[in-house]
Amino acid sequence: MPERPDLEYVVPRLREALVGLTIVDASVKKPVVLRCGIAQVRGTFVTVSRRAQAVDFGLGAAHLVVVPMLAGRFDLVDAAAKDPADVAVRLVLSDGRVLRYRDDVQMGKVWWTAPGVAVAGLAEGGVDVLEAAFTRERFRALAKGRREQLKVFLMDKTALDSMGNAYADEVLYAAQQHPKRLVSRLMPAELDALHDAIVAVLAHARDTIAARAPPLHEKIRDFLHVRGRKGQPCDRCATTLRVAGIHGHDAYFCPRCQPDVDGRGFFDWRGT
Ligand SMILES: [Zn+2]
Repeated sequence: MPERPDLEYVVPRLREALVGLTIVDASVKKPVVLRCGIAQVRGTFVTVSRRAQAVDFGLGAAHLVVVPMLAGRFDLVDAAAKDPADVAVRLVLSDGRVLRYRDDVQMGKVWWTAPGVAVAGLAEGGVDVLEAAFTRERFRALAKGRREQLKVFLMDKTALDSMGNAYADEVLYAAQQHPKRLVSRLMPAELDALHDAIVAVLAHARDTIAARAPPLHEKIRDFLHVRGRKGQPCDRCATTLRVAGIHGHDAYFCPRCQPDVDGRGFFDWRGT
């Protein structure tokens, strides 16, 4: 699942549902996601918050930190509900319900740790892009001296908190920038436009998800313009959308709206 807009929706709802409840039993269906002994996982929920791309459940002195990666998701069901095959961890709650962490690709990780302790795979320290402190000036300062491609830069969670594959693609589409363009080639006005696109795209996604109020385990992505739409027509110009590989990630983009004005990618597009 989740990128920032998804967590903006899920975390407050988990908080509302869980604070004050106690874990009375914990069991694991898919041990590969666990980075702790499941017998340790006990306590009463005091806080539920977002920590970079993770959900941090505070249970007094210890925290259960779940890094859902690509496919992880939560749901909250009655104890009698049958578990689907993707359930990884089950926490039985004092009100009789069950909090389930589901992950059909088991890329997510579940940690039981002290507050503030570093969690492997959890990049922290990025600027919160939905806070007022994320200004054009701040973004220009972050971009200064960066040598990587735009898509890689946008996904650097130590710089920006926090954007993954899907929303990096959407932001670049909104800003009409090629995903492989180098950060260092952008003019100040283009950086400002990219900043504005980050804020607009993530805020729109947050608001859209909130308005549609899906069940906790459902990830709404059908309003995205490019992500997952390879071969379909661009919403803006009807050109067929493409996918490019970038350092192990894929980037969906419109070759016409997002030309690589600095070089090769532009000519690649014209040649096909
Ligand atoms: Zn287009």
